Amino acid sequence: MTKTAIVTGGTRGIGAAISVALKAAGYKVAANYAGNDDAAKKFTEKTGIATYKWDVSNYEECAAGIAKIETDLGPVSVLVNNAGITRDAMFHKMTPGQWGEVINTNLTGLFNMTHPVWTGMRDRKFGRVINISSINGQKGQAGQANYSAAKAGDIGFTKALAQEGARAGITVNAICPGYIGTEMVRAIDEKVLNERIIPQIPVGRLGEPEEIARCVVFLASDDAGFITGSTLSANGGQYFS
Ligand code: NDP
Repeated sequence: MTKTAIVTGGTRGIGAAISVALKAAGYKVAANYAGNDDAAKKFTEKTGIATYKWDVSNYEECAAGIAKIETDLGPVSVLVNNAGITRDAMFHKMTPGQWGEVINTNLTGLFNMTHPVWTGMRDRKFGRVINISSINGQKGQAGQANYSAAKAGDIGFTKALAQEGARAGITVNAICPGYIGTEMVRAIDEKVLNERIIPQIPVGRLGEPEEIARCVVFLASDDAGFITGSTLSANGGQYFS
């Protein structure tokens, strides 16, 4: 039976590449997004993948969105928690709003999305939850206390849930990308990117969204059934955890 996969933030950047790769691997894919209707429309026109709009920081919206997808496409076997935002500021200038938005989206969003699919996965004795964390959750990053805290939290969440899901056939893993050439990263000043960021990456380039997508396809597959609670670093050698 064709499995259903949800990719949060699945219409742009890394998430779009994940949605496309999962579809190519034979999954029925639902791509969630927050508000950029234009990008979502173009994504569906290009890929044929259905999109669903809601905010992952809102539990009720997640539960309703997942229920709609399950009606449309069938029970969810694979959940990719990819949606994420940055609201960077040095800590002395960081506002409670910047802290809260990032924690609510990048960390609480994982609870909000995983909780509504968890019981179904347990009942069906199969599930794959793949959380897109970040190198900055592993090593910390100045100007990103909010983001680093949320992404480190994603890893703790992954490890705890992996223990709970193991006997029920559910694997839970995290992927920690380094700098990937999406809009989020290309928005960084070009001089900073070329003179400060790329020289720190031993392979000498940004990663491609498709390189993260291939990690997801592997972790979602039956071949990865013995891998759970792991953190897969995909960062061009920038940081060894
Ligand atoms: P993009 O900004 O390119 O895309 C973000 C996607 O997430 C969009 O589809 C956006 O929807 C969606 N989104 C944002 N907030 C919400 C929300 N509250 N609810 C639902 N959807 C939301 O991001 P990237 O592709 O660069 O990043 C994807 C993930 O990878 C993030 O978790 C990020 O932290 C992580 N990451 C990225 C790295 C990089 O170098 N790019 C490095 C390490 C980790 P919409 O289009 O409607 O705005």
